[in-house]
Amino acid sequence: MSSAEEITGAPVVNLIHEPSEKQVPLDFEDMILRKRRGWENANPEFEMPEDESDDELVEEDEAGCPLPSTPEDTQLIEAEMTEVLKAGVLSDEIDLGALAHNAAEQAEEFVRKVWEASWKVCHYRNLPKWLQDNDFLHRYHRPPLPSFGACFRSIFRMHTETGNIWTHLLGCIAFIGVSIYFLTRPSFELPAQEKIIFGAFFGGAIICLFFSFAFHTLSCHSVEVGRLFSKLDYCGIALLIMGSFVPWLYYGFYCHYQPKVIYLSVVCVLGCLSIIVSLFDKFSEPNLRPLRAGVFMSFGLSGIVPAIHYSLMEGWFSQISQATLGWLILMGILYIIGAMFYALRVPERWFPGKFDLWGQSHQIFHVFVIAAAFVHYHGISEMAMYRVTVGECEVPHPPIDF
Ligand SMILES: [Zn+2]
Repeated sequence: MSSAEEITGAPVVNLIHEPSEKQVPLDFEDMILRKRRGWENANPEFEMPEDESDDELVEEDEAGCPLPSTPEDTQLIEAEMTEVLKAGVLSDEIDLGALAHNAAEQAEEFVRKVWEASWKVCHYRNLPKWLQDNDFLHRYHRPPLPSFGACFRSIFRMHTETGNIWTHLLGCIAFIGVSIYFLTRPSFELPAQEKIIFGAFFGGAIICLFFSFAFHTLSCHSVEVGRLFSKLDYCGIALLIMGSFVPWLYYGFYCHYQPKVIYLSVVCVLGCLSIIVSLFDKFSEPNLRPLRAGVFMSFGLSGIVPAIHYSLMEGWFSQISQATLGWLILMGILYIIGAMFYALRVPERWFPGKFDLWGQSHQIFHVFVIAAAFVHYHGISEMAMYRVTVGECEVPHPPIDF
């Protein structure tokens, strides 16, 4: 009995040719078996964390994570098939070799489709290392899904990323709706210049929320795709912060051209620096979570300088100053609370395995980001309304008055 028969209990037919004295590079059944390995063997980087405390999960783990196919396997199989075909040419059995090749490809496609439609969530410890991000979330992780279609279909399944995906997908749709309403106002109601200024904020918010949605959807595709979209996710945060500064500085320093240009230039430089830092592979490592929160919080909090300048200019106790700063401070508080949840991974840190699907820190962070963005939208709308009621500046570009 061959090794395949021992495992499957069914006789295995050698589809290529009868055993002969000639050199046979690889057995077909051997290939099939190799193709059906789980991730543990397929991924040389796989490490088994030592969390064995959760006994109830064993059954699910065994049912959930082993996969019939991996991207690495595809390459392996292709290389093996090439060898088989070469052997076929040498042994005048090219037709059977080609037949076997086609049959194997069809079987591979079939297995892939069946598996894509039937994958199961799995335990953190059964994930390949590149998907291990938050060890306080125990169950309901997506396994690697090396197909964009399978990743996008996974947004309708329940797993650790479902809440993250939908919070920012719905936030993105809401901001697209608001921006369409805003930007399609007739020009006598809203001049083109205001639309461009608000457009910078809408653009930053929509890109940030869309990249975040895309990252959480595609993070399980493969190492490369996950890494690319995590970088885009961080770039999106930098763009949201930059876009939030534009209308605030524009209306806050409406009649003070020089400080406005200086602050906007500084924001551009800081934004570009944040994007450059985000592009480093190391920046997305799980243990650098507090650093990431720190980089974006410092960028956002750099707004304290123009805010103090603005208050000194307008007067600390003037109505407009208080109203504007009130919204700005509320926005800052929401972002900071959200970033703290993100960096500290609370509440799942206190109750590991209890917030796997809902209520985990990243979802709370997402909700705070959306709330802060809407608060900011309201704040800059108030500033724009104030500008409309006050009218244009007396002197178009007065000299600097720090
Ligand atoms: Zn996120």
